[in-house]
Amino acid sequence: MSDDFQQAYLKEIGVQTPISSFVAEEKEAAPVSTPTEVSTYAAPTIEAASEVAEPAVQALQAEVDVPPAQTVPTDGLAGLKIKAEACKACELVESRNQLVFGDGHKNAGIVFIGEAPNRDEDLAGKTFVGSSGELFQRMLASIGLKRDDVYLMHGVKCRPQHNRAPKPSEFAACESFLSAQLDRIQPKMICLLGKVVAQSMLKTEASLSELRAGRFTYRGIPVLVIDHPSYLLRAQQNKSRAWQDLCRLQSFFSTLH
Ligand code: SF4
Repeated sequence: MSDDFQQAYLKEIGVQTPISSFVAEEKEAAPVSTPTEVSTYAAPTIEAASEVAEPAVQALQAEVDVPPAQTVPTDGLAGLKIKAEACKACELVESRNQLVFGDGHKNAGIVFIGEAPNRDEDLAGKTFVGSSGELFQRMLASIGLKRDDVYLMHGVKCRPQHNRAPKPSEFAACESFLSAQLDRIQPKMICLLGKVVAQSMLKTEASLSELRAGRFTYRGIPVLVIDHPSYLLRAQQNKSRAWQDLCRLQSFFSTLH
């Protein structure tokens, strides 16, 4: 499937030479080492979001007659997802159908982060499904990756009504989940998809062009910014620049091994 996606994407954007050397590796236990060429963009200070309620975990534990630690994970990504499902820290809980927590390889070398779930993701409870998800998978395949090789999530876990951009207060409320996910995955790098989530996480008003050209850090993790696949669906003329971004991503990741 990977080869088919790769060939289809490359053909679509007019690139003749496939690249297949970009393969995610198992994450080592050692902390991320930030390369010297990465700018020291001030890592945002994460303010604790509202306390996440524990009743959902306790209720699940109460239903079974075995020690809670053996039945309901209270740490790790699975335990964190249970806490997120019980979260009511911002108004987005009212507009969602399902939480879209994130999915992928729990020790991925790269984490891709979009801004918020769209309608398809909200209905599926999974990131990057539908037409933009299909394009995103072709983009990954063009550099030799499958979605199971990476981890995918959003800056906010609940869908805003009518696909509006999340408010700064909503990003702030949900950031404790995002940072906790990164703490558990410990990726070598982060790739932010689009201007909205990049401006929010990097605490900047830089333009998308400036963001795409720069290198940043978030909580000490190297960060690159590329176009969001939903934007590329609307701006077909930018697919060739998306290919340049993917090559830049591949090249940068190779320096982090
Ligand atoms: Fe909680 Fe995040 Fe959903 Fe807001 S978007 S209710 S902070 S999980």
